[in-house]
Amino acid sequence: MLNATSAALPRVVLDWRHARTGPLAPCVLCGRLAFCRSPVKGEPCHKRCAEAWITTATIDPATRAHLIDRHTPKPKKAAA
Ligand SMILES: [Zn+2]
Repeated sequence: MLNATSAALPRVVLDWRHARTGPLAPCVLCGRLAFCRSPVKGEPCHKRCAEAWITTATIDPATRAHLIDRHTPKPKKAAA
C-alpha cells in the first residue's frame, strides 16, 4: 500500500524466512533483546531494525537500490 510518505523512500522488505533464531541477545542495531539472527552475518538483529537501517543509513541511492533489489522478495509474475 502506498501513501505520501512511503513514496519518498523505497521501502525495504527483507525475506528472512530462512533466518535462524537463537537465545535472546541484544540486537546489534537497537540493543533490545532479539531472537532473530541476521541471515547474512548471524548476529542478533530484529528484521525491522535491518529494514530501517537499509532504508535510512544508505546515503547512496545506488547502494540502497542494490540492497533493496537483492534482499526484497519479488512479486511472483503471472505465467505468460
Ligand atoms: Zn533491533
